[in-house]
Amino acid sequence: MGKRLKIKWWYPLALAVLLAIVALAQRSAAVATEAETVPPTLIIDAGHGGADGGAVAADGTLESDINLDIALRLEALARFWGLEPVMTRTGPDIDYPADVGSIAAKKVADQHARVGLINNTPGAVLLSIHQNNYPAAAPKGIQVFYGEKPGSDALAKLTQDNLTAQVCPANRRVASPIDRGVYLMKNVNCTAVLVECGFLSNPDELKNLQSGPYRLKLAAVLLASYLQYIRGTST
Ligand SMILES: [Zn+2]
Repeated sequence: MGKRLKIKWWYPLALAVLLAIVALAQRSAAVATEAETVPPTLIIDAGHGGADGGAVAADGTLESDINLDIALRLEALARFWGLEPVMTRTGPDIDYPADVGSIAAKKVADQHARVGLINNTPGAVLLSIHQNNYPAAAPKGIQVFYGEKPGSDALAKLTQDNLTAQVCPANRRVASPIDRGVYLMKNVNCTAVLVECGFLSNPDELKNLQSGPYRLKLAAVLLASYLQYIRGTST
């Protein structure tokens, strides 16, 4: 009579535990692979719009219009590069839900819709475009703010350095964490930066921001910074 494998009582139990561990390991490996292979998607957010003009310059120039123009130039450059960016808006108007009346309620509905769009985009990397404003005319300069999710500070520092070097070398502002009260930046679950491209309250910067070539330059540096960032994270 040959040797006979003796099945001890704990064999099935050990096998079940092993299978469970292997299954869990495979599942986490699959999740890790998926996270690594989701390609980044650039989301371009032109701040404000519709009922919300944002800051207003002394000559009546609306922040929302400057934000949109920079965003559209950035979109065009990104498409030329072969990317397929997602825009949170592509025109001055915004479609609000029919039951929303007041301007405050419209702003809330719009911010909720933007967060929904961004959080439903796999691999999202958000560039939110804004202009600064101050009661006095003196403050000026570009400043990049970052959200709390991984990669945000790195992208912000890169973008700040590039904008300072290429657009305003005298700038002393540094990349900083975003104020927690900024709803969009607080509620998106992706790498996110908000760029204050200049002060509408500073006459020199307002003049610059009203120039198409200047806005194109801003857009080009923003795209270059994004490309630099995603290359760094994919290697
Ligand atoms: Zn703004």
